[in-house]
Amino acid sequence: MTWQTIRKDAAPDVPPNLADYARARSDFTWSQARTALDGLPGGSGLNMAYEAVDRHAVAERGDKVALRCIGRDDTVSTVTYGELTRRTARFANALRSLGVGRGDVVFTLLGRCPELYTAVLGTLKNTSVLCPLFSAFGPDPVEQRLRLGDARVLVTTAALYRRKVADRRPSLPGLAHVLIVGPGAEELPGTLSFDALTAAAPEDFTIPPTSAEDMALLHFTSGTTGAPKGAIHVHEAVVAHHATAAYALDLHPEDVYWCTADPGWVTGMSYGIIAPLVHGVTLVVDEGDFDARRWYRMLDEQQVSVWYTAPTALRMLMRTTPRQGAHDLPAAHDLSALRFVASVGEPLNPEAVVWGQEVLGLPVHDNWWQTETGCIMIANYAACEIRPGSMGRPLPGIEAAVLERGEDGRALITDGRVTVLETPGIEGELALRPGWPSMFRGYLHDKERYAAAFADGWYLTGDLARRDEDGWFWFVGRADDVIKSAGHLIGPFEVESALMEHPAVAEAGVIGRPDAVAGNIVKAFVSLRPGTEPTSALEHELLAFGRRRLGPAVAPREIAFDQNLPRTRSGKVMRRLLRARELGLPTGDLSTLEGSA
Ligand code: ATP
Ligand code: MG
Repeated sequence: MTWQTIRKDAAPDVPPNLADYARARSDFTWSQARTALDGLPGGSGLNMAYEAVDRHAVAERGDKVALRCIGRDDTVSTVTYGELTRRTARFANALRSLGVGRGDVVFTLLGRCPELYTAVLGTLKNTSVLCPLFSAFGPDPVEQRLRLGDARVLVTTAALYRRKVADRRPSLPGLAHVLIVGPGAEELPGTLSFDALTAAAPEDFTIPPTSAEDMALLHFTSGTTGAPKGAIHVHEAVVAHHATAAYALDLHPEDVYWCTADPGWVTGMSYGIIAPLVHGVTLVVDEGDFDARRWYRMLDEQQVSVWYTAPTALRMLMRTTPRQGAHDLPAAHDLSALRFVASVGEPLNPEAVVWGQEVLGLPVHDNWWQTETGCIMIANYAACEIRPGSMGRPLPGIEAAVLERGEDGRALITDGRVTVLETPGIEGELALRPGWPSMFRGYLHDKERYAAAFADGWYLTGDLARRDEDGWFWFVGRADDVIKSAGHLIGPFEVESALMEHPAVAEAGVIGRPDAVAGNIVKAFVSLRPGTEPTSALEHELLAFGRRRLGPAVAPREIAFDQNLPRTRSGKVMRRLLRARELGLPTGDLSTLEGSA
């Protein structure tokens, strides 16, 4: 079976079967390195960076543009696959010359600049481990992760180093090398120039034998529910990145592809760097920040064909371009090249799917996965019908189930056994049968937590969901966020989505507030569209609107207006912080809160 036939066969009726991945794995025959690597412990060899970059140069696609970088000032520069092969080889040689080798951890603290791609892929070529950090992190979260992740090398800029790392350096004795991208290394003691080092390094590099099970990436989770965890991923994950980008994003080599996720998060790595390059697409790399005007212009000028973004970004676009509004931003642009739009990170409100259809001319395909799963698991994928508000169906090779839950919302485990809910429509913990290539192999330095994530042969996701009778999965909430009110279990997503259907509401975050009678009552924090005033008349209108839509048992009993809902830097509403503020409780780990230093 070839990739093409898998893709065609990926119609909804393909039974989930892990054997698909075994076949997929043996399909990585392009790898010239493969023969040399066969026979290694852990099976045949496979290097993520080889598959993403060198393979194209070897196959004489070296002249194709890999990266089309758009600077903050709109200057455009391009990097071909051939050039990327040479740059990453130089960086791998530079690491080697510093004595950095297999398993050593290289951190990046960079925005979306061409050097980021060189550093990530060069590190993987050198069989070192790459851990990306979000460049807007403050000094505490940076230090915390450098320490937790055993950082040996950090690649960053002079400005970021000065602001976030220089003071902390004495407390990080394991951090042997800091490489400064761009000018400034000379003035910063204890650092080296990335540019000088790579310029001096040879452009030929033989990738050392890489086992498919060698550690490749370390990713910290978003920290929505608590302190972030370091998830370990191996080189074999590339097989899943490739397959799922075909299934769920419909990527083809001729695509111009734009992923808006920050490279500091797993989406920015799996689908912002690895998967698209393995497919040989041209990747749009935007160094600028979010701005509705800029984004429409990017889609137009770059003639983006496949676009992968997040609900928070879509909601921001919706805020500036309401469905029936007078705004003409999308109309003023040529979006005709766009043929596939997907979203991840948070539940996608049905309103956003409909908005996509009306404003972009395309529906938005929601998909679900986690840092731990390394690749998309459940999706409204290209070959299947979209059900607005649903996460979609498990991808081929993925077996998902809803497990009976206990009082705390998590799966009920009795004598080590769990119960799969076969009847559709019942809410329970979403679980996955482990075994696909990009499944995380552990939480760094936390064996117990890793072990606790599994029961009875299932990986427990910590999310609640239900499955409909046709096999589409519907997100209910994180187990920690679900509200118990007067005997009902209420998922915040359902309430938030209903509120968003009101024309005044841009976004909502819903929590449970303890109540003597009901146990909890539903309280909604609501941000309004521009030009709408937070009046008590509107408050009453929204309460009534909620009751009409959801019924009195589920509807919010209190509404508060808040134009700055707290969110993680990866764009998720931080309900635990809304709850902590409301109840005057300790706010917990806020290292990933957007806007925090
Ligand atoms: P932490 O585990 O540190 O609390 P996090 O779970 O937010 O943080 P990520 O791995 O970045 O860290 O996010 C995965 C989670 O995001 C999922 O478990 C789910 O709760 C949410 N999520 C992702 N995609 C979707 C989606 N399409 N619909 C609903 N929820 C989603
Ligand atoms: Mg999580």
